[in-house]
Amino acid sequence: MPRFLVQTEAILTMDPARPFVPGGALAVEDGRITGELSAPEASAAGGPRVDLGHCLALPGFVQTHLHLCQTLFRGLADDLDLMHWLRERIFPLEAAHDGASLRASARLGLWELARSGTTAFMDMGTVRHGEVIGEEIEASGLRALFGKALMDVNPGCPRLREDTRQALESADELARAFHGRGGGRLRFAYTPRFVLTCTDDLLRESFARAGALEGSRWHSHASESPGELEEVHRRCGRRNVTHLAHLGTLSPRSCLAHCVHLDDTEVGLLRDSGAHVLHCPSSNLKLASGIADVPRLLREGISLSLGCDGAACNNALDMFTEMRLAALVHKVRHGPTAVSAARVLEMATLGGARALGWDGEIGSLAPGKSADAVFVNLGRAWNPSAPTGPDEYAGAVVYSGRPENVDAVLASGEWVVRGGRVERLEEAAVRAAAGDALRALRARAAI
Ligand SMILES: [Zn+2]
Repeated sequence: MPRFLVQTEAILTMDPARPFVPGGALAVEDGRITGELSAPEASAAGGPRVDLGHCLALPGFVQTHLHLCQTLFRGLADDLDLMHWLRERIFPLEAAHDGASLRASARLGLWELARSGTTAFMDMGTVRHGEVIGEEIEASGLRALFGKALMDVNPGCPRLREDTRQALESADELARAFHGRGGGRLRFAYTPRFVLTCTDDLLRESFARAGALEGSRWHSHASESPGELEEVHRRCGRRNVTHLAHLGTLSPRSCLAHCVHLDDTEVGLLRDSGAHVLHCPSSNLKLASGIADVPRLLREGISLSLGCDGAACNNALDMFTEMRLAALVHKVRHGPTAVSAARVLEMATLGGARALGWDGEIGSLAPGKSADAVFVNLGRAWNPSAPTGPDEYAGAVVYSGRPENVDAVLASGEWVVRGGRVERLEEAAVRAAAGDALRALRARAAI
């Protein structure tokens, strides 16, 4: 891929060495960033040029907790708490997936992710047809760690469980088929769903396997809602994160979604182990789970990043909604500076890349990194703004940015969105296939 320049209004790099370049251009060659040119350097430079002079460039967003299998379920499980939401709706709906409906669900989610500037993510997967998710991620041009939800306990919905051995073997098979595929854009993560759907053996064994696979992660949910916590205590005799520590499953390869309800000991366990907390404020509010104590976790130096969770509990998959909420929700209890816009933007980019172990490749716009960038037009009519410095730009993106402001997206140096159009997924076809698949799936699930 030959060298080209992308002219911008400004670049917010998230690279401490050169955080902000007003009026600059991004130089891209062979899928990688070769440098940021200042305004005078950019005007003097020759070669092919893409003019996005009306856009702010920033690193592609990194979402660390998603469920592509649930995109079709948007609007089918509203106004429920976590355990009713899971047992009455989500488990039966996931159990009713076939390969075709899972493919339609993944495509719809990938369309929304690309359109709104997410270029990398981690997906929890579902129990069956995991290869479909891998194939669709590869075809989308995006980058992801993905897994299959490991569940060997599920008395209320036995169709959505496997034997321990079977769950681990099919995960290993997916790891062999997909880890490193797509020129390294795909990685496999071991994803035990949560303590209540897993035996201790499955939790321990999956953690060991994630450790044996270079670049993998161990991805689970923990301490999300009061009802879940009570059940964990009844079954294990311990609090949730304490139980995970007791099993030896906390380390820098552990990525735990939510962590809303922690005691002091558990905050210490997360801090000392180097585990990552995946903060999902929309999902936590919508399922009435609670509000994670993010200011405290940040003070303790715990790794924090953001995810939309799923379309059935959010109900959007765009990072703008999540960033805005993450910046707003903690101010109520902790004051206006508790979590600043700049801090949230860091969680949405470099923080996410660190959690995924991909910060050598993505998360900031720096020479040598993969050219994964989002170009945001902040002058659009519904929320025009005219920021002048890095903090004002961060505020404009976090507090008034919307997915519709995304003009273009680069992933591994390729334009996956141009002029607001997703290049590899045709919107009308994706939506039509999703509608057809959903009708058939609802009939199978009788929901
Ligand atoms: Zn989740």
